[in-house]
Amino acid sequence: MPDYWERRSRLLRNAAVRQETVTGDPEEQLQLAAVVTESIVDGPGLRFVLFTQGCPHRCPGCHNPQTHLSVGGTFYSVNQILYRYDENPACRGVTFSGGEPFEQAAALAQLAQAVHAGAGDVIVYTGYRLEQLRRRAGTDAGIHALLAATDLLVDGPYVQEKRCLGAPMVGSLNQRLIALSPRGNLLLDDIPLTPEGEAVKRIHWTE
Ligand code: SF4
Repeated sequence: MPDYWERRSRLLRNAAVRQETVTGDPEEQLQLAAVVTESIVDGPGLRFVLFTQGCPHRCPGCHNPQTHLSVGGTFYSVNQILYRYDENPACRGVTFSGGEPFEQAAALAQLAQAVHAGAGDVIVYTGYRLEQLRRRAGTDAGIHALLAATDLLVDGPYVQEKRCLGAPMVGSLNQRLIALSPRGNLLLDDIPLTPEGEAVKRIHWTE
């Protein structure tokens, strides 16, 4: 049986990518490696998942190397993606994965705000640590907006030596599950606690 990370990687490879033509404000454009309209492995419930194109981290052993280059993928407008998300009311929320979602923070923040308006929740994977993002948010409005619209952050790079099998949501034990809102606490509580995942830090949101 393939582990969580392998199943997730397979999902990305098999995802259909439709060609879209987008013009307009770069802050409203998303450059995506794949769109998965229904996933049960990227967080609690049925989720709509975006794999962003472009990642500066280049973690050795990364399962999604096809997402690294900042060229390639497919461009969509925020509205095109929202339209697709709205087509499936069974989705609990969205998950932004990568690639590095915070490289496209402004456009993803708009999308996340719209998902919240429809009562959905937002999970974001990042190779950065939360502390780094908070520092950068001081001078980058897009990062500030995406952090503000994130319910659950899965942070930190993939570290091959700390690879863990069977821990939900993370690929290596250095990564953390951090709730950034009350909705994030609900997400965190819905992620099963497996023996392999006990070493993964879970941080609840507090006011
Ligand atoms: S941050 Fe994620 S997508 Fe980027 S190199 Fe690391 S594991 Fe791969």
